[in-house]
Order: sequence, then structure tokens, then C-alpha cells
Amino acid sequence: MGFDSRNSDIIILGAGMIGLTQALTLAAHGLRVSIIDRVEPANLPNPQTDGRVSAINSASWNMFDAIGLAGQLRPHGCDIGKILVNDGLKPGALDFVPGDDEGPMGIMVENAVLHRLLFQAVQANPDIALHLPAQVASCDRKEHRVEITLDNGEQLSAPLLVAADGRGSRMREEAGIIMAHWQYDHSAIVCKITHEKPHGNTAYELFFPSGPFAILPMLDDEDGKHRSALVWTVSRKDGPAYAKINKRAFVAEMMKKTGGFLGDMELLTDRQTYPLGFHHCSHLTADRLALIGDAGHGIHPIAGQGLNLGLRDVAALTECLVEGARTGLDLGETQILARYDRWRSLDNMMVSASTDLLTRLFGLPGETSSKIRRMGIGLVQRIPPLKAQFMAEAKGETGDLPKLLRGELV
Ligand SMILES: Cc1cc2nc3c(=O)[nH]c(=O)nc-3n(C[C@H](O)[C@H](O)[C@H](O)COP(=O)(O)OP(=O)(O)OC[C@H]3O[C@@H](n4cnc5c(N)ncnc54)[C@H](O)[C@@H]3O)c2cc1C
Repeated sequence: MGFDSRNSDIIILGAGMIGLTQALTLAAHGLRVSIIDRVEPANLPNPQTDGRVSAINSASWNMFDAIGLAGQLRPHGCDIGKILVNDGLKPGALDFVPGDDEGPMGIMVENAVLHRLLFQAVQANPDIALHLPAQVASCDRKEHRVEITLDNGEQLSAPLLVAADGRGSRMREEAGIIMAHWQYDHSAIVCKITHEKPHGNTAYELFFPSGPFAILPMLDDEDGKHRSALVWTVSRKDGPAYAKINKRAFVAEMMKKTGGFLGDMELLTDRQTYPLGFHHCSHLTADRLALIGDAGHGIHPIAGQGLNLGLRDVAALTECLVEGARTGLDLGETQILARYDRWRSLDNMMVSASTDLLTRLFGLPGETSSKIRRMGIGLVQRIPPLKAQFMAEAKGETGDLPKLLRGELV
């Protein structure tokens, strides 16, 4: 540790992928950060507890590039060269393919790999002090400073606390921030698979009334076996059964869902189950507090945007804080926090609302709903400006982009 963390510029609670990225982007601009998490360092980036693979969209990738992490991530990432959306296996798919002069739609990276590389970069950074494992015994957001006492007796202080403590955010609750939330009648079954035919860098999003079925491309393994990540949404009551049925029966179900377009399939890992919900905060800030990532919002993984939304928070908050610091403002100043809240609230709400609408539209049963969906898919496919807009959204390139998402430091 290169500084006295009793007096940092910012304290971050939560060393998930969002909290760690936030620490790195702030440190890249010369700010000193203390970061707290309750987990043991050895358990932090763990494929046993998080077997997911995330689609990092191209704007988020630009940020990793700007803070010097993209080079290390690159060998582990699989390009998404095409996204194919379909109403089940019915004819009339919608495909998103970037032009020859554009980069990929996004890059698939295993959460455990991304988390590990972020953690190693944080450990190596003299401007970041890690407090792990530690719990917050008391947190006092005073008029001029935030003062935290950890359960090991250590005392930390900074002008601002950033809560990156995930869905169940304690800091959000303590600040009394109002939140809309509900549970979907869905669970996601997540696992990795091998398959006979190559995926051709295609991400498949197949929509069934029981829920979306996504097959997302991964790099081949050392033996040249083709691999993909599966995110299979089933009704909540069926989740535990799908996670437990024997492998042969599960693979047979997968084959049925895909109609065999990837050839024979095998399960590569255990199946993990995630109950799915939605939450959205009225505000992302309170006195000397800013929420980022899942602490502020949580969406259905139907479009693979949850982590990307959190990374947008990180980029916007960094820009607000770095510019505030340059003009000599107190980093917990209402002016800075109000700018961050305005910047992120609309975008978060738009993405959250459209993801929720998509989840509901594609979940409607019956032939009439299916016809309407296919008509919509056909329209987007045939109207180039509409299709271009959807592609830009998927790549994270719409709206008022913070500098980091354009690949530049602030
Ligand atoms: C099935 C599934 C698939 C998904 N796929 C994608 C995808 O393809 N693309 C995408 O963009 N997003 C995806 N997401 C969403 C994405 O995974 C989340 O948005 C993201 O992981 C949230 O990260 P976070 O750091 O905000 O929160 P978390 O990962 O929850 O991290 C919170 C951290 O805070 C710590 N913490 C919490 N409370 C305390 C406390 N009181 N004291 C100390 N520490 C504390 C925890 O230990 C943890 O380390 C998916 C989600 C699901 C469920």
C-alpha cells in the first residue's frame, strides 16, 4: 500500500467486477482509493462460484483499453462477430453483423478471468489500498467526510463513498434510496458446453415462450474442441429440476432447443442457477454516496447488458470526479454527484425499461404473439437505419458517452 488509507480520495465498498474497475479508472487519474470487501482474497475471482461468461460490448472494451487492461484480456476473449436473434427455431431470423471496417459487436470473457485480472491489477496499483476480508462495522456519512470503521478496528475516511456492493446493497438501504423491484418468474441456468460444429463467432439468442435460450461463443479449448456458454432461461419453478436432471437428459433438451445446428453437444461444467429479478433506483446518489453497478440497477440478462450498464456508471462517475478534482471541488460535493445522477439515470432507465419490455414481449405464449414477434424481427431486419440503431445499442455506442468508453482517459 503506497498511502495512508485513513485518508483516501474515495472509498469503494465492493470488490466485484464493477468496484474493481472503478478503483482502477480512478487510480489511472491519480486519485487514491480504498476498497473494502467481505470475501477472502483467495475466493474473489472464482469459477466455482461464478461460471458465467459476459459479453463485454465494444464501448466497455474501449475503457479496458484506456486503463491498459485490454492487452491482458485479449488472449482470453472470443470475438462476437455476429448476433443472431430468432423466435425459437422458426424461419425469419434477425442478424447483426458489423461492417468490414468495424470491430466485433463485443467480446466474450469468462467472469472468473476478468475478475482475476482486475484483482491482480488492483493489487499491483500503489494508489489502491485493499481491505479484504473486512466488514463495515460503522459508516458515518458526515457533513464534510465519510468515516468508516471496519470490523477489525481499522478506520478509513474519504470525502466520498462509492457503493459497488451489488444487488442487496447495504449502503443503498442505509441511505433510504427508493427502489422499484420485482422478481421474474425466471431462473437462468448457466453452464459451458462443447459442440461438434464451430460457432463461427456467432451469439445465438433464441426466444421461446418459456424464456430465452442464449448460446454465446467462447474460444476453442487446447484440444481444439469448440466451446460456448449457455444461458438458458426457464420458469422459476423448473429451475432446480433443470439444474439436477441427469446430463444426458439435459443435453437431449439442449439438442431439441437448437435443432442440432451446432451438431452433437456435451456439458463441460456444472450447471449454476440464478433466480432473475429487476431493480431500479430512483436516484444513484445521496449525501457523500454514489451507487454503481448492481447496487443501483439490475436487469434481466436477456440482452447481456447488466455488467455493461455498470461499466457505464464507472466511466461517467470517473469523469465527474476527475473533472471535479481538477477544478478543486470536494469530491463529495453535491454538484459532482448531481451531474453523475443526471448523466446515468436516463440511460439506466431506458436500458432497464427496454430490457424489461423485451423480456415480457418474448415471453408471451401463443401463435398470434409469435407472429407479431416475427413481424417485428422482419421489420428490423429490413429497415437499415432501425437495424443500425439496434446494433449501436448492443455495442454500447449510443447516448452521451463518457470519454473512457471512447477509449480516452479524462
Ligand atoms: C445469469 C446471468 C448472466 C449475465 N450475463 C451478463 C452478460 O453477458 N453481460 C453483462 O453485461 N452482464 C451480464 N450479467 C449481469 C452482471 O453479471 C452483473 O450486472 C454484474 O456482475 C454486477 O457486478 P457488481 O460488481 O455490480 O456486483 P457484484 O458482482 O454482486 O459484486 C458486489 C461485491 O460487493 C461485495 N459486498 C456486498 N455487500 C458487502 C458488504 N456489506 N460488505 C463488504 N462487501 C460487500 C460482495 O462480496 C461482492 O464482491 C448477467 C447476470 C446473470 C445473473
